[in-house]
Amino acid sequence: MGMGKRKRWWLPELAGIGLLLIALVVIFLGGQSNHFALYFEDTFITTSAPIDRCSSRHPETPHDKLLGGLLSPDIDEQSCFSRYKSSMFRKPSPFSVSPYLVEKLRKYEELHKKCGPKSDLYKRAIDQLNSGQNTDKAECKYVIWTQINGLGNRMLSLASTFLYSLLTNRVLLVELTTEMRDVFCEPFPGSSWQLPPDFPIKNLLLKYGTDSPESYTVMLKNKTIPGDSNIRPESLPSLVFFNAVAFNWRMENHLFCEDDQKILQKINWMVVKSDGYYAAALFLLPAYRNELRRLFPVKESVFHHLGRYLFQPANPVWNIIERFYRTHLINSDEKVGLQIRQFREEPIPFEDVYNRIIECSETENLLPKLDQLNHDNSTPIIDKRISVLVLSLSSEFYDMIKAMYYEKSTVSGEMVAVYQPTHEREQDSQAKFHNQKAFAEMFLLSYCDKIITTATSTFGYVAHGLAGSKPWVLRTLNRLMKEPGPACVRSMSVEPCLHSPPIIECKENVRIDPTEVEPYLRKCDDAPPMGLKLYDLV
Ligand code: GDP
Repeated sequence: MGMGKRKRWWLPELAGIGLLLIALVVIFLGGQSNHFALYFEDTFITTSAPIDRCSSRHPETPHDKLLGGLLSPDIDEQSCFSRYKSSMFRKPSPFSVSPYLVEKLRKYEELHKKCGPKSDLYKRAIDQLNSGQNTDKAECKYVIWTQINGLGNRMLSLASTFLYSLLTNRVLLVELTTEMRDVFCEPFPGSSWQLPPDFPIKNLLLKYGTDSPESYTVMLKNKTIPGDSNIRPESLPSLVFFNAVAFNWRMENHLFCEDDQKILQKINWMVVKSDGYYAAALFLLPAYRNELRRLFPVKESVFHHLGRYLFQPANPVWNIIERFYRTHLINSDEKVGLQIRQFREEPIPFEDVYNRIIECSETENLLPKLDQLNHDNSTPIIDKRISVLVLSLSSEFYDMIKAMYYEKSTVSGEMVAVYQPTHEREQDSQAKFHNQKAFAEMFLLSYCDKIITTATSTFGYVAHGLAGSKPWVLRTLNRLMKEPGPACVRSMSVEPCLHSPPIIECKENVRIDPTEVEPYLRKCDDAPPMGLKLYDLV
């Protein structure tokens, strides 16, 4: 009986101690790692413990780490943390990836491995380049991208050049100057996209310009090459310069003609200089149109898919993004991103810009409304957190918006926090850390639920393109300010705008308006009356 009594006393006590120990171990393990990850074949589900332990507001969304097959699994996680983590802070993509695009990307990766730097075929192609003699025997053809202007422009033109390489079976190499290193991860498994430093032609960016003898249109004008698409490859030079910089396009009306593309295809080395989203103009070429339709059944998903494939933040950039997101944004119920770009060539007084931002916000219901009538700030606080992310080179707008929510309560009583990660004052695209921070901010903006951007800004295009969301565009922060109309419009497409579409004059004296070729190619809604953009609304 005594034993029996002791037994009844011991068992629950032991069970309790056991449970306590298990709980302690779980808490300890939770403190050791940022998240518990469960792998299910291609799907990487991340639970929110323990970082979100104190709040379950915005647990990291379970995410498909390879983005529907867009990404190859063959890149080691340590070399690029963002590849497997960056989508966990983003809503799932509204656009599925076509199986044909997945197949095309895997084939491209094979080609890149076979022909990329350090391969025997690359060495052979360099010998051929050095000989100055083009050949039809080359197994590998190349397109080299050189950068110009700010990071947004660079990313749009790089994505366009990658699309061009997919369409023409060329291998994409990138002249990565110092300021562009450690901004993006290497996108192609088992190889590099960086133009090797021993490439025989140095400083391509400065070497090639409008009047370069290697420019395709200069060669046509000088009759160095005849405009005959039946020309034998051996009669062509080994390298051609494809000048697609916006303001040159008015003169470069041959680049988007069928016959000229056939000639360009025969030249094994091509250097591209561009500052814009010329991917949209590739839809003008009948030879590529069917392929493009198969790759992108949804037209407005072109940059969204290409951008998420190519532009993974390098580890130093990802560290900034993750730290900022976890510190400031993860527990918000709603994130509103506001990108204010003031173009130096079109200065607009601060007050005017600020007033138009507020006008836009009020009409479109974007920022939480202030309770102007409640003078003693007695609106009851509700349990809803809104984060406002302000991105701008200057700090004035941030100061004003922060002060608004410090001084006044909102009509509904939400808790509003306002953040600005940097205010760099000046664009300094030649500085690496400046570009790294700019990319981090584009990414943070892409994590917002509502994205407000500045009309014509390529910085903004990249952010909403990566997010796959249609932004509200502040249409009045550039020369359009002078035109009457609303302070902002909701864009009708996720796609970036190509600001200066080419004039197409493939037959003498017959000019084609690029916005009248296909119904899904139209003028840009953020920059009327100019530009070319892909839409799905027909
Ligand atoms: P766009 O000129 O607006 O089309 O965009 P770009 O990205 O091509 O060039 C603007 C550049 O200025 C960026 O790449 C940054 O270097 C810098 N910049 C402009 N706005 C911001 C900002 O809000 N944050 C940061 N960090 N940099 C900015």
